[in-house]
Amino acid sequence: AVESLQPHVAVLPSPGLGHLIPLLEFAKRLVLNHGVHVSFLVITTNEASAAKNNLLRSLPHGLDVVDLPPVDVSAVTSDDMPVVTRLHAIVEESLSKSLKSVLTELCNPNALVIDLFCTQAFEICSQLSIPTYSFVTTSVHFFAFITYLPTLDREVQGEFVDLPEPIKIPGCPPVRPEDLLDQVRNRKIDEYKFFLLHVSRLPLAAGIFLNSWENLEFVPLKAIREHSFYLQIPTPPIYPIGPLIKEDEPLSASDEECLAWLDKQPPDSVLFAVPGSGGTLTAEQVTEMAWGLEQSKQRFIWVVRMPSDASASATFFNVGSDVNDPKAYLPEGFLQRTRAQGAGMVVPSWAPQVHILRHPSTGGFLSHCGWNSTLESICHGVPMIAWPLYAEQRMNAAMLTAEETGVAVKPEIEPGKKVIGREEIERVVRLVMEGEEGKVMRRRVQELKESASRELGDGGSSSDSLASFIKKCKH
Ligand code: UDP
Repeated sequence: AVESLQPHVAVLPSPGLGHLIPLLEFAKRLVLNHGVHVSFLVITTNEASAAKNNLLRSLPHGLDVVDLPPVDVSAVTSDDMPVVTRLHAIVEESLSKSLKSVLTELCNPNALVIDLFCTQAFEICSQLSIPTYSFVTTSVHFFAFITYLPTLDREVQGEFVDLPEPIKIPGCPPVRPEDLLDQVRNRKIDEYKFFLLHVSRLPLAAGIFLNSWENLEFVPLKAIREHSFYLQIPTPPIYPIGPLIKEDEPLSASDEECLAWLDKQPPDSVLFAVPGSGGTLTAEQVTEMAWGLEQSKQRFIWVVRMPSDASASATFFNVGSDVNDPKAYLPEGFLQRTRAQGAGMVVPSWAPQVHILRHPSTGGFLSHCGWNSTLESICHGVPMIAWPLYAEQRMNAAMLTAEETGVAVKPEIEPGKKVIGREEIERVVRLVMEGEEGKVMRRRVQELKESASRELGDGGSSSDSLASFIKKCKH
């Protein structure tokens, strides 16, 4: 009789669209493919994000959005806080005030699935006896790195970035100090301490979902399974369920316009360039990018944001509601010229990325290598130009450009320069869009795409993995 009851799972992403999107996708699969009832808990603040509101519209029946009471951001954060410190403050304030009562009102779901930066939930849920799972929104390689970080923290003296050799993680490709994420580049500041705090709580999880699959990350998956000391004993079960990517989203009038333009372009002829959900470039880099794109003489769709010299993720918390007038910062005449030649589309702030990547006219993706963007590009068979900006993106870029993966090229920065120059941008754009290397990368990405759909299909390892979690929930 218990088995016939519909399981109820609560899902809790941290703020930031790169976290909300995959957890929302996960929630949709639970509802649509497995008949689970999902309460999707959203940490809200007094700051608006139009892009976020749009994503949370028109969800399937059985997926209920539950807004947690809004946090007054100005009371708990300051403008100079780096991203994880800020995230931590917002999440802490929200969860300490409301998670327990919200879960109780929901009559204690069968499980709670949380994002990496919501680990305050472990303690709250243990009081309520709700098993709490972690959903990793990054690569398995990065997951291996963060689960090993508490060990590195104990064993390494001084800064990781000053190490003379790449960092060895058991069974995994070594990580070059220059590819380390910002959060571990200075061990003396709160940004590192909060990051370490959250990752060191991973062993408390009842299980860990990984958004990846064997063909893409065979080596780190094997390492995680074989070196159980990563997660200490007892090791939480691992569920590789990926690639879960956004499949659809409500389209605005400007999204429709962008897709209509794409309809008129030849197959594989358009480069799509976007700095992730919250990424920004410096003013000087925006200028070089504009000239590089124009000189490449390739068609493009370019998502532009107000440049920021202070941060590479200046719109992380408010994307879609940010101030953005491209005329104010793009080179003189750029918009008129590209429009007159029909060569390119400039889209302020946000574009319908998955619709563009899946469109037959799209032939290349200049991406900041966020994990969701990486998966979306692979699942739609689009080769990449790797342009990492923040978080763990340099590690992702290293994996994508490595020979074994071979689906991306990374532009080089000239020694002594602060930005990637226009000639280099022109070179890599041409290489991906019309060069022999581009063709090789396209074939390789196609193979990975096919392996992904095998694993997600009936009898595939990702689909079996998710089914085994559902079975557990039912009991
Ligand atoms: N995205 C989008 N339109 C944009 C920019 C981003 O739809 O103009 C989506 C993209 O499809 C992906 C997510 O936002 O699902 C970005 O997540 P990712 O992990 O790549 O990077 P993050 O933004 O977290 O750094």
